[in-house]
Amino acid sequence: MSHSILSALGLAETNSGTYLGNGEWSKTSDAGVLEPVNPTTGEVLGRVNASSQADYDAIVERAQAAFKVWRTTPAPRRGEAIRLCADALRTHKDALGSLVALEMGKSKPEGDGEVQEMIDIGDFAVGLSRQLYGLTMHSERPGHRMYEQWHPIGLVGIISAFNFPVAVWAWNSFIAAICGDISIWKPSPKTPLSAIASMKICNEALNKADFPDLFFLFNDAGSALAQQFVDDKRIGLISFTGSTKVGRQVGERVAQRMGRSLLELGGNNCIIVDETADLKLAIPAIVFGAVGTAGQRCTTTRRLIVQESVYDEVLAKLITAYKQVEGKIGDPTDPANLMGPLNSKEGVAAYLDAIAKAKAAGGKVESGGAAIERPGNFVLPAIVTGLTNDAEIVQHETFAPILYVMKYRDIADAIDMQNAVPQGLSSSIFTTNLKRAEAFLSAAGSDCGIANVNIGTSGAEIGGAFGGEKETGGGRESGSTAWQAYMRRQTNTINYSDSLPLAQGIKFDL
Ligand code: NAD
Repeated sequence: MSHSILSALGLAETNSGTYLGNGEWSKTSDAGVLEPVNPTTGEVLGRVNASSQADYDAIVERAQAAFKVWRTTPAPRRGEAIRLCADALRTHKDALGSLVALEMGKSKPEGDGEVQEMIDIGDFAVGLSRQLYGLTMHSERPGHRMYEQWHPIGLVGIISAFNFPVAVWAWNSFIAAICGDISIWKPSPKTPLSAIASMKICNEALNKADFPDLFFLFNDAGSALAQQFVDDKRIGLISFTGSTKVGRQVGERVAQRMGRSLLELGGNNCIIVDETADLKLAIPAIVFGAVGTAGQRCTTTRRLIVQESVYDEVLAKLITAYKQVEGKIGDPTDPANLMGPLNSKEGVAAYLDAIAKAKAAGGKVESGGAAIERPGNFVLPAIVTGLTNDAEIVQHETFAPILYVMKYRDIADAIDMQNAVPQGLSSSIFTTNLKRAEAFLSAAGSDCGIANVNIGTSGAEIGGAFGGEKETGGGRESGSTAWQAYMRRQTNTINYSDSLPLAQGIKFDL
């Protein structure tokens, strides 16, 4: 089964992890090997030869050369290139979605959904390629025109996490491409095959139509090349998606060299349920948010704050729903299953450690809380009660399906609790009370980058800007005006008069 998925995407047992451009994959075989593991079975899925220093140097040089051509290609023509990528992804959606499910461990519908997200951002980028608008403004000087325009910034470095092994690349690289940039990708060492397959699909489509190379790839056996990448002054923007721990280092290092970084880091996302909430909507939203992708989404629901008058009812309904999920945990490529494994053994260890810490802090495990005895990295989704929002374990993101359920009396307290964590990614309220919904969305409400009403915390659409505040890093990707992060803004003033008036009325008479 895994063999047929790999071969459908042109992957062999051993693959090069370095795309050098011009249809050329590096022959390097002495820089280490990555062996991604199927988290469902523990078997090695394939081998990927890591990139060497020489590969990295060649990629950056070739990317610089490609940029010289691409930056002056008209943006709508750049959109044409991305249209071809989106079409190629449509053709390969089923196979790539299966590979994502296989290698990352998410369900097949979620794997397909991730590829659909690539297609959607591709379509969005095509339209955007005609809408990279700058403003014009009125000059204070007579006979002058003033406006701003957006130019590409050059090379965009993309470092991505294992849990969205392909969509995050497309969010960045497709938007960067229509902005006139060339991107270089270093994917997660846990999901290199999904990255190689995505590169093959998109670059073949570009090569066939004689477009220059827009996307390069390297895979690091350790983290030495990734660190060099972060420190490399030739990379105008480092877009990093991953943990707050690594992202903090990346942000600091890029700042040291006065480069730009776009950080998409961990979340500690919360749903508030008030006494007017429609539980027919709230319960499935909470369960999908907490359990979907086995709790390995940056937007996974990790905290639930329930008004005390409906607390018992909500908890009982959740426990019942979790029992249903427990019957549908298994091979994520089987569409009947709702939850797959954690991606790695370290993920299982982090889950068990968090459960132990929650218990030690006085928490009560109402459902789940243990690993499942079977091959692969399976755990039971957990519900924990009895902890306060300021408990240390509640304040941290554990990248696993653990939901901390707490009570509140006044809505103002609930909003304070929602905000009282170091992270600021996604948040929701379930209510039918208009005033509370608006208060939650107001300047005095949620402090997150994403705030929803009667929708869960996960499953964002590509049209909005995606990202979060505080330790989530402050970056924004995907839709809306997120494209501006991939360009440099230039203000232009043109004097078409016969005199040289100075701004602010300053006189300088020679
Ligand atoms: P991670 O931080 O362990 O790894 C992320 C990437 O950083 C990988 O490609 C890794 O190889 C690379 N890396 C490791 N050390 C590095 C270094 N010193 N310099 C440069 N790169 C280095 O994260 P992960 O376990 O792959 O992903 C899970 C985390 O990602 C969670 O915290 C999750 O919330 C976060 N995440 C955030 C978003 C978002 O949009 N906010 C999206 C997806 C995942």
